[in-house]
Amino acid sequence: MTPARKRRCSGRGQRPSVEQYLREAGPDSKLIGHGELAIDGRAVNCGKRPTVLNDNFDSWGGAFPGFLILNVTKISGLSTAVKLYIYSHECGHQFIGPDETKADLFAIRRGVRWGWLDAVGMEDICTFISTLKGDAVHPPGPLRCETMRKYYRELIETDGTQAASAPAKPSSSQKAHTLAPE
Ligand SMILES: [Zn+2]
Repeated sequence: MTPARKRRCSGRGQRPSVEQYLREAGPDSKLIGHGELAIDGRAVNCGKRPTVLNDNFDSWGGAFPGFLILNVTKISGLSTAVKLYIYSHECGHQFIGPDETKADLFAIRRGVRWGWLDAVGMEDICTFISTLKGDAVHPPGPLRCETMRKYYRELIETDGTQAASAPAKPSSSQKAHTLAPE
């Protein structure tokens, strides 16, 4: 995506409210309320948080505290498991904070518990993520694949794990968490 598409959502150090974000994202963005979002026909939620559909967003999905962002155009060619992983990863940030690995594991745990993640889906996620590079906060894609795959196996084998959830730490960054750098 072009850098020009990148939008500053608020002043420095400020986190946008969903209303501010919608205003800045423009008329093509759409607010989907809690309980109204379905991905490939499967209802999803992230607590009570709404989702903004924004096809100008510079990643597949993103998160600001209190709401999620999905780029429907960008995720449209992906398999259902990968789409659900992306949504769940962004949802993970709402609960576990900015840590990218923890958000990945949150998504995998959710996928197993909620029944949308099987071995084929896990490999789809690995194929998708392995092409992505890392940055200061995102480990390189192949490493993310390995970490998630290992955790997936653990969940399947032990079947009944403890939720390793820590209290969410508010992010100090004004930039949305994204799935990965481009
Ligand atoms: Zn993330």
